[in-house]
Amino acid sequence: MPKKPEAGPPRGARVSLIIFVGLLAASVALFLFDGTSSAPDIPYSTFLAHLEEGNVESVRIIDQRLIQGRLKGKGGVSQEFSTLIPYVDGGLLADLKSRDIKIEGAVAEMSPLRVLGELFPWIFGFFLIWMVFRQMQGNNKAFSFGKNRAKRYQESDKKVTFADVAGQKEAKYELLEVVDYLKNPQKFVKMGARIPKGVLLVGMPGTGKTLLAKAVAGEAGVPFFHMSGSDFVEMFVGVGASRVRDLFDQGRKSAPCILFIDELDAVGRTRGAGYGGGHDEREQTLNQMLVEMDGFDTKDGVIILAATNRPDVLDPALLRPGRFDRQVVVAMPDIQEREDILKIHMAKVPASAGIDAQRLARATPGMSGADLANMVNEATLFAVRRDRTEVEMQDFEEARDKIMMGIARSSLVISEEEKKATAYHEAGHALLHYYLPNADPLHKVTIVPRGRALGLAMSLPAKDAYSRGRGWVRDRIVISYGGFAAETIVYGETTTGTTQDIRQATDLARKMACEWGMAEELGPVAYGQEEEPIFIGKEIAQHKDYSEDTAMRIDRAVFNILDEARKKAFEILTEHRDQLMGLAEELIRKETLLDDDIKALFGFGDTRTAEA
Ligand code: ADP
Ligand code: MG
Ligand code: ZN
Repeated sequence: MPKKPEAGPPRGARVSLIIFVGLLAASVALFLFDGTSSAPDIPYSTFLAHLEEGNVESVRIIDQRLIQGRLKGKGGVSQEFSTLIPYVDGGLLADLKSRDIKIEGAVAEMSPLRVLGELFPWIFGFFLIWMVFRQMQGNNKAFSFGKNRAKRYQESDKKVTFADVAGQKEAKYELLEVVDYLKNPQKFVKMGARIPKGVLLVGMPGTGKTLLAKAVAGEAGVPFFHMSGSDFVEMFVGVGASRVRDLFDQGRKSAPCILFIDELDAVGRTRGAGYGGGHDEREQTLNQMLVEMDGFDTKDGVIILAATNRPDVLDPALLRPGRFDRQVVVAMPDIQEREDILKIHMAKVPASAGIDAQRLARATPGMSGADLANMVNEATLFAVRRDRTEVEMQDFEEARDKIMMGIARSSLVISEEEKKATAYHEAGHALLHYYLPNADPLHKVTIVPRGRALGLAMSLPAKDAYSRGRGWVRDRIVISYGGFAAETIVYGETTTGTTQDIRQATDLARKMACEWGMAEELGPVAYGQEEEPIFIGKEIAQHKDYSEDTAMRIDRAVFNILDEARKKAFEILTEHRDQLMGLAEELIRKETLLDDDIKALFGFGDTRTAEA
């Protein structure tokens, strides 16, 4: 897309540049017009020869080492010369005297220009040192080190709108509020509404975070300043902080506008995590960013968007209210979304009418939006190489294989077999939600991988709850075993994909027994002291303050809870095996299913009461 970078360097940089060029020009001039050596040099021996022949008219001895003088020329035209005395020639003066030559003595005069010439290297050196110091103080305006390099996208550029972003319904919905605000900040300010200052877009690479940020600017028709977190981190200490300041200044001047900080984790990593002082620059930059965000008022009409794929490493200070207090998840596309993305990008190239976008979507599991855009481009390149006027299905197939290979290398690709196994596993989790009276309602189930998880069955609490009943905990544990049970039913054995589920179930069961008094055989007794060591962070150490005998009883109680839950999961899924298979097949087809989709599929009503 066409971008329009801001014209010319900023003012501070221009002044420094003029000084720099001035100094350089002066040095060249000094070099060219050095006034001391005007006459042609001749060797001392030649001078002696002239002397011998009586050609010398007059001499002027400067500093006892340089002789300037005149030679008697033919026809009365005298000629200037100069020569250096190579050694202390005691006889020279007597010789000159004896020949009746006019002798003068003199000391070398320093022309002002000459003085400058001698001083120039020093001036230049000090200028450089001064510049470096300004750098280190962080308020540097010399050259453009301290200036941010935010690229500016203006209204006049080809606009990106939400229509250019396929899928991402939830993200768009959340960002719509920001768009409304930017279109008419006064309306919101008048009502006293508090608008988020910073919105953090969280998602894997290539899911369209940058695209969404641009689309927000495009929808609102405001300028968009784009800067990457890694641009802030430079060699010189203080440069990053200075860039942050500049970026925000620029934002204030151009309000309403959007500041977009890509790769926020490059600057926003938790402070104090590194060894020694090597992270000073980054910390300083991060601190400056926090200061700037605090100093901002949403009334200014500037919204800060940021993107990261590592929200877990961000400094908690960044996520506090008044900073990036709102997070928008930008998910990997599911099968339908992949189809939509393909269609958007295929519309930009002359694709043949016979292209089956749906089939391509099905054949590209694990691909991000960026991968798909790339695939369309590769397909077009194949078509060009074959001298075609339209991009054919064959080109797409080949492009797909090429890109899948790259993805396979980064181990993101999921084989058909894995996809199937994941579908059964997640269907097991999901289906249980509908047969357990105390479980939270299912929100959605997906086999689109995110991070290291191959799939996910997500529930949504019917209401906020700060304490949960025993029934809820038990059902939660049963649901955890849904994947395990489904794998057993379908394959007769289970995979390593159950690690997290088993751990989660065990944690809950142990808490039931030791903390919540939910195991009859143990009674309402707190076993094990919980403490939070200050320096180790969030790790919770359990102090054992019970006997070996009690330990055995706890283990048995935990095992019983888990065993019962596992059996229950197994029972329910065996009884409804048809639905389990049906749900898995539907998942393989659609990749993501919502609560309503599943209800429609099996004709479940809203009869189940979610009792917390
Ligand atoms: P991220 O910033 O999350 O790494 P980008 O926004 O840079 O991803 O996406 C790269 C490219 O991938 C975009 O320019 C666009 O062409 C394509 N793309 C990604 N997601 C989508 C989407 N949902 N719809 C259309 N195109 C997309
Ligand atoms: Mg990006
Ligand atoms: Zn699972």
